[in-house]
Amino acid sequence: DRAELSLLRDAEAITLDGVRVKLEANIELPEEAAMALEAGADGIGLFRSEFLFMGRSDLPGEQEQYEAYASVVQTMAGRPVTIRTLDIGADKTLDGDIAVAANPALGLRAIRYCLANPEIFGTQLRALLRASLHGKIRILIPMISHMHEVHAVRQAIAVAGAELEARRIPYASNYELGAMVEIPAIAIAIEPFIDSLDFLSIGTNDLIQYTLAIDRGDNDVAELYDPMHPAVLRLIAHTINAGERAGKPVAVCGEMAGDASVTRMLLGLGLKEFSMHPQQLLDVKKEVRLAHSNALRIKVASALNRAERIDLASLAG
Ligand code: PEP
Ligand code: MG
Repeated sequence: DRAELSLLRDAEAITLDGVRVKLEANIELPEEAAMALEAGADGIGLFRSEFLFMGRSDLPGEQEQYEAYASVVQTMAGRPVTIRTLDIGADKTLDGDIAVAANPALGLRAIRYCLANPEIFGTQLRALLRASLHGKIRILIPMISHMHEVHAVRQAIAVAGAELEARRIPYASNYELGAMVEIPAIAIAIEPFIDSLDFLSIGTNDLIQYTLAIDRGDNDVAELYDPMHPAVLRLIAHTINAGERAGKPVAVCGEMAGDASVTRMLLGLGLKEFSMHPQQLLDVKKEVRLAHSNALRIKVASALNRAERIDLASLAG
């Protein structure tokens, strides 16, 4: 019940065998950071910045974005804040955009859109560099599939910094750079991405869509949208294992991370960083505190080796 959950708020997210897990919050608007803090989040694992851009006829400028990002960083008072750059296209469109690509989910979306629109991207990057003055920002790039996109992002950040310098506007370069793992290609060929980035965050919503060729918003095929498909779980496991080997943090920020019925399964895959809606945080923490991580890892690995479906009931208790 709620009273029990509120006691949990200040309890550590640690398994029975002593694995400390980070539980972070997904937010869509700066005001929601307060809710994340209230829920006891270890940080912001995903700020979907596109919501600053949606439902309006103009674009948010550098100053407006700077204030929005800085306010989240200030609210979180030293906890890490992961801000995803504009993920527009497909299911999220800007007003006035008449982008009707034949396959929008496979089209000019997210980082592809940003690299094709350097003014929009540059404005956001300058705002992020300025907001970094107030605390540690983790810049998260959506829909990465190629290494040359990572290089182009670094170049764009360098240009943004040079522009601020030319205008004598203060900024900091203490940011970390990470990528969403939400296209199967990057999960399969993960090593160079792990090596050149500071962290990764698995977007299971899109990873499932692209792995199973199931439109995440299409009701006619919703039954085939299966987070537990062994192929999906192998991609998640492969990414987590690569991160573990390289000593780089890997989070899950898709819907799965906030679903307490699969918390044990994700712990069994080796996940140590979960990001979810603030309201889901305490239920997930409760599961973490009742789980034995090592036993789960052995069970999950043996099922995945055979590409068997994992029986969630077999992971309980
Ligand atoms: C995801 O794809 O899992 C994700 C977290 O991003 P979004 O749902 O915003 O595409
Ligand atoms: Mg996504």
